[in-house]
Order: sequence, then structure tokens, then C-alpha cells
Amino acid sequence: MTAEGHFIFALASTILAKKMALTPALAEGDWWHIIAGGLLTCLLPDIDHPKSVLGQRLTWPSSPIARLCGHRGFTHSLLAIVAGILLFTLRLPPQSIIPLDAFHAMIIGYLSHSAADMLTPAGVPLLWPCRWRFRVPMILRPAKDNQLERLVCIATLIFAPQHPEGTPLVRHLAVPETVQTLWQRVRASLLPSP
Ligand SMILES: [Zn+2]
Repeated sequence: MTAEGHFIFALASTILAKKMALTPALAEGDWWHIIAGGLLTCLLPDIDHPKSVLGQRLTWPSSPIARLCGHRGFTHSLLAIVAGILLFTLRLPPQSIIPLDAFHAMIIGYLSHSAADMLTPAGVPLLWPCRWRFRVPMILRPAKDNQLERLVCIATLIFAPQHPEGTPLVRHLAVPETVQTLWQRVRASLLPSP
């Protein structure tokens, strides 16, 4: 997906995350912090490609990551996604220069990247280092111009602000108790208790 597509999709994703009250910090957060945070990180996964917008500017981290993981490798994988989700549980120190709402939006921006790439024919290797590519079928086809991609991204941007406030996108999705307990154990073992 183009950088333009990622920016529009990240903007839609952060608006949706705030509307859905995904975390208390996002629900009560400042719109400008949230929008800036999401836009700031939405191209970060493509650091694994030296010719990407970010890769061209940050050649030092880009080249070794590209050599080590390849494009659309670790940075687009389930491992990176889980790591991103775990960051939601991180408590920033009070003197942190990044406000918590912006930090949560930065995680959303990063995660929106892989979600957007899943709409493209190349898909993403969620199970990296296994090379299987996962994609949402029939959304974007290989095309010379980016009109369809732009249209899909703009459609999500139009949809996001319409979402009722504080309503989860999937209303009836309930996380089983065993999964919740497992999650709490994983969280407790990874993060020191406050
Ligand atoms: Zn990408």
C-alpha cells in the first residue's frame, strides 16, 4: 500500500479506536494527540524496506532490518502485533514527554499498517518466519493506479467518525474467562506489577 493509503487508513483507525473507547486514555484523550500519534507510526513497519518512505530517510536501521527479516517480515507479523498490544498495558512514567493518549494512538497507528497491508494482494506474513501470506480476499487487486486503494481508504475514513461513541465494533464478542486468566498470567509474567 502507498504511504498516502497508510496515512488515510491510520487516521480512520485512530478515529475509530477513540470512538470505540478502546482504552480509557483514547476515550478521554485529546483529538490532536491521537491523530498525531497515529500518523507518526503508521509507516514504521515499512522500515524493513530501504526504498520505503521511512527506509530512505532512516537507512541505518532500515538496511540491517531488511537484511535480517526481509520486507513485510517481522515488522508486519503477529509477533509485532502482539508486542504492540502488550504495549497498551505499559504505564508511562509521570515525567514522560509522550502523553498516554498519544502513546496509545501510536500503537494503533502501527497496528493499522499491517491491517491495511492485508487488504493488498501481497498480504502479510502473520506467522513470520513462516512465509505464508494472509490477506483479505477481493478487496484490492493488482492495479497500476491507486484509485481503488484511495477509494477504500477514504471509505474507512468516512465510516470511522460515524461510529457511535463507546460502542465496540463487535458488540457481542465476549472473551472467554480462560483466555482472560491466561492473558492476566502472561501480562503478570512480562510486566512487573505497579
Ligand atoms: Zn507494509
